[in-house]
Parts: sequence; structure tokens; C-alpha cells
Amino acid sequence: MTVRLAYNLFTQRPKQELADFKQWTHMTKPGDGDDFYRVNGAGEMLVYSAADFEDILEPRPDMAPVMESEIKAVVRHLVENRWPFRLHTTYDETIGRALNVYEEINREIPFNGLHWFFDHCETISDRNIERIKALGGGIAVQNRMAFQGEYFVDRYGAKQAERTPPIRRMLELGVPVGAGTDATRVSSYNPWLSLYWLVTGKTVGGLALYPENNRFERMEALRLYTVGSSWFSSDDGKKGSIVLGQLADLAVLSSDYFAVPEEEIKQIESVLTIVGGKVVYAAKEFSKLAPSALPVSPDWSPVKTHDGYWRPGLHSSQSLRTSHAIVSAKVADRACHAAWNPWWFGCGCFV
Ligand SMILES: [Zn+2]
Repeated sequence: MTVRLAYNLFTQRPKQELADFKQWTHMTKPGDGDDFYRVNGAGEMLVYSAADFEDILEPRPDMAPVMESEIKAVVRHLVENRWPFRLHTTYDETIGRALNVYEEINREIPFNGLHWFFDHCETISDRNIERIKALGGGIAVQNRMAFQGEYFVDRYGAKQAERTPPIRRMLELGVPVGAGTDATRVSSYNPWLSLYWLVTGKTVGGLALYPENNRFERMEALRLYTVGSSWFSSDDGKKGSIVLGQLADLAVLSSDYFAVPEEEIKQIESVLTIVGGKVVYAAKEFSKLAPSALPVSPDWSPVKTHDGYWRPGLHSSQSLRTSHAIVSAKVADRACHAAWNPWWFGCGCFV
């Protein structure tokens, strides 16, 4: 493998979630596997009744009253088996209701240092951040607002958008925070777009969302992305820093992240990627070190057509036609799956 994956098991069966997790806790356990590929825990889908979709073009969904009893059964089972768990939550209202249940379970079976967390948390309140802190949890944030920021401002106003998500408050209140992308359907997999969003506070369309106190110095943003995220896969102390004793993973970049103009952060790429001390990708001046290319999978991936990620200056009528075809395919995919599974309208971050 050329990347490391700590994966979470994501139930696929509404109303059968507890049965899924009972089966999986019987079959395997967190930590099974190795440093390249191993079980990390459960989620981000724990029960379908707690899934608040992040389509900002739609009003906030209210979760059904059954959410509490369903999530209690699943989370109680996971805590009993010492399984870390994560829950997809966009809105503060959903987070508050989940926390009511978590606090109740914690009184019966203490979480006691389990690495549990919420994903996303765009509209979380200070009060709920404090409640997460009290239970020893964390928050994984992603740059979904870089793509939906304009819609959010239209619906809720620029003032509310300023703390969406309130990453600075999370850090001030002492909660572990990890940064990511929510790739590949809700956002792009490109980490540099997420770092650009953290540093500039702007959407990909150029709208400035955040005041200075909710933006980050480049080193702070990078730390959220590396050391910060290592807590979420229980890899803290093992990866995230280039130091003696940690995994030998590093990348040489196409330009200096700390020195380029902000707008150029989006165009940074790796020219040499080393994983476990082995070169897994090399380009430009390092191309002689490149291992043979892996086959592109699935074979319709835009990576195959575009030869990697989007680069400025590579616009052509062909690439525009391809983009149109991809959008059309995505719409068709949604229409097809929506008939039986509303989750297809939601976040697709399965790992
Ligand atoms: Zn999600």
C-alpha cells in the first residue's frame, strides 16, 4: 500500500445497525491489522436516525424521536466493548441530543479515555464543545464550508458563518481537533484545498467567511492536519511529526508551503512521497526514483483523464466536457440511490 488507512466500520442497514455492530465486535477489534491497514473503530454512521445531512441548500433536518433510543443501544454496546466511535453531525441540535445520550451512558459505563469523537460540527455551540471536553471526546473538522460557504451565508447569514465550524473555540476549550477533507464526494481529496481554507478562511469561490480569530497560521493549520489528526486514529506519538521514533512517512513538496502566496497553497503537490521509508511516488526532479504507476481504480476515475489533480493552465474543451460528464454521472448516481437510501444525499466519508 502507498497510504496508511485506519478504518471505521460504517453500518449500511437502517434499523439493523445494532445487529451490524454486534457482528463486527464479535469478528474483530480496534487495532487488528497493522500500521498500513487496521480497524480503528465504529462510525461515522452509527444509526441512520442520527444522520443530519449537510446539504445547506436544504433546511436543517430535525432528527426523529427514535434517535435517542437507537443511538443509546449502539453506543452502549460499543463502550462495553471498548470500541472508539465517531458520529457524523453537522448541526448543534443533533450534537446536543447525542450528548444527552452519551452522558447517560457514561454515568453507567465510564468512557474512561476512549477516543470517541464527532465529525464535522459546523454549527456547534460553546456549551456542547464543553460537554465533549468533559467526556474526553474530540472533533474532526473538514473543509466542507469551502464548497458550501456561499449557500450557508445565503441561508443563515454572514455572522453565523464566522464560526462555522468554530475551530478556534474548540482549541481554546481544550478539545482534540483533527483536520481533513471529507473526500471524496462531499469535498475534494486534495489536502491543500483544506489547508488553504484553514489559512485564508475563504471558499474555493473566493468568499471570505471567517474573521482573523477563526483563521490559522500556516504552521497551526499543518499541525491540525498532522499531529492533530493522529489522535483520531490513536496514532498520537506514532505519526504526524518528522522525528526519531515515528513512522518514516514524509513528502517533498513542489513549493514551500510556508513561503508561497496564499493563493498558491491550492496548487502545491508532492514531488516525492516516502511511506515507511520507501519511495511510493516521485515526479519532476525526483522522477528517476518513481516506482511503476499503480493502475487507476475505478477505471472511470477523473484522475485517469486529468493525469492527477487539477492544475492551472490545463483548461481545455476536452477537460470541460469531461467535467460535465462527471457531474451528470453524479446526479444520476444520486437519483438512483435516493430511492432506497437517503444517506446517498449525505456525506460520503466512509473511513
Ligand atoms: Zn460525515
